[in-house]
Amino acid sequence: MSVRAAAEAAFEFTMPVVVIGAGACGLTAALAAREAGAEVLVLERDPTPSGSTSLSAGLIPAAGTRLQAEKGIADDPALFAADLAAKAKGRNDPAIVQAVAEASGPAIDWLMERHGLELHLVEGFTYPGHSRLRMHGPKSQTGADIEAMLLAAADRAGIDVMTGASAEELFAAPDGRVTAVAIRRPDGAREVIGCETLVLACNGFGGNADLVRRHIPEMADAEYCGHASNTGDALAWGQALGAEAADLGSYQGHGSVPRPHSAPLTWAVITLGGFQVNRDGHRFANEMRGYSEHAEEVLRQPGRIAFDIYDARCEAAALGFHDYREFKRLGAIKEADSVADLARVTGLPEAALAATMAEVEACAAGRATDPLGRDFRAAPPLAPPFRAARITGALFHTQGGLAVDGEARVLRPDGSPLPNLFAGGGAARGLSGPAAWGYLSGNGLLSAVVLGRLAGVSAARLVAPAA
Ligand SMILES: Cc1cc2nc3c(=O)[nH]c(=O)nc-3n(C[C@H](O)[C@H](O)[C@H](O)COP(=O)(O)OP(=O)(O)OC[C@H]3O[C@@H](n4cnc5c(N)ncnc54)[C@H](O)[C@@H]3O)c2cc1C
Repeated sequence: MSVRAAAEAAFEFTMPVVVIGAGACGLTAALAAREAGAEVLVLERDPTPSGSTSLSAGLIPAAGTRLQAEKGIADDPALFAADLAAKAKGRNDPAIVQAVAEASGPAIDWLMERHGLELHLVEGFTYPGHSRLRMHGPKSQTGADIEAMLLAAADRAGIDVMTGASAEELFAAPDGRVTAVAIRRPDGAREVIGCETLVLACNGFGGNADLVRRHIPEMADAEYCGHASNTGDALAWGQALGAEAADLGSYQGHGSVPRPHSAPLTWAVITLGGFQVNRDGHRFANEMRGYSEHAEEVLRQPGRIAFDIYDARCEAAALGFHDYREFKRLGAIKEADSVADLARVTGLPEAALAATMAEVEACAAGRATDPLGRDFRAAPPLAPPFRAARITGALFHTQGGLAVDGEARVLRPDGSPLPNLFAGGGAARGLSGPAAWGYLSGNGLLSAVVLGRLAGVSAARLVAPAA
């Protein structure tokens, strides 16, 4: 993933805007650039675009949307920005937090109204750290539908998405201006395409075991559930061009992944009153801090596993998720009518499990205080029939990346922008600060969609409008 001198590139045509990666970020950037009048080419390594976007639950947080207004939910960018800053303990970039929070609501409204994405507001539960209902997603609550809707929108907008086009090399002038991209085709052929501007939308380095071991050693042996193709190419190119890379130790983990599946069992079952025990039947951390940092907590437990314990009431919200319905169909969710039965179906020690459940019930009833610091009073105590799932912790995607400004321009360490390079989604520094504990639910797609749109607008601004 090198960068060579511009003079070494020979190419037959130049595109005003080239986007590398056809996930949520790349497609949103392409839609925005096209709408602003630029001709766009999207390069995608896979034969069929999917990305981590398709593996996700497809939930995008946004403040001040039409859907929120229709439900009477009072939310605004300032409140959202405060939630983002609080989760990351103020260690995310305030300028990006502000810019993304402000642009989030308009981005969702734009995708729905202008590009026909069918989204709904997720109701019934909030994720830790979000002070309002602000998750927007397809009815199925699967990212595959977001990806499909974005691809359909790109097609309607006349955007070329070249698949089987793995970007290998960039060419740049001495001042850092990118002039061309070399791609490798599935038959081994190499082509060079000129570009006036370049948007890096090829996600982070979760699929690059060496980089994960170097920057996120605590997750080096964890399963990576994201898209294998996300091998850190944007980071390598950006750094070679002199860009700053920031927060490389930051990531989205998930502390509730039923094995051998690779998707999350929604944290909704936890926020609605469920909890986790290790295989000895003991709780081990305050689950309400967030599912991202909980991945590491679970991996520290004996056997690197734990169990989600909840009930049919909690499950009602989970049934809205396609992945959860699949887990049920495949037998990953155990059902039990009593604590003894729950111990039997999970293999957990009955006495320890019963003691933990009694402690949690006392906390929920206000008769005891949780020694791990969780306030259980917000939800009713669990009641039969119970549910349980054996889970582990996993790495979903990296949150560190190329430093960008509020226009998604890639920045050098001195804060100056590179001449024509933009980044969003997992390619850019995220909104989570330096570590997994800063990840507020939805920060992944938020950065993809909102920075993607900003990148597309900014790139188009630099080029002549299409004829
Ligand atoms: C299981 C799971 C669940 C998740 N759930 C959520 C959720 O509900 N909400 C949320 O906000 N986030 C969620 N995330 C995170 C979210 O999926 C990502 O943050 C988001 O999809 C990133 O979008 P992107 O466009 O940057 O990357 P991607 O969607 O991964 O797209 C990048 C594309 O670039 C292509 N590419 C890479 N390198 C090259 C190259 N050299 N040349 C050409 N193409 C290249 C890849 O093939 C890929 O198609 C989840 C992640 C996982 C794994």
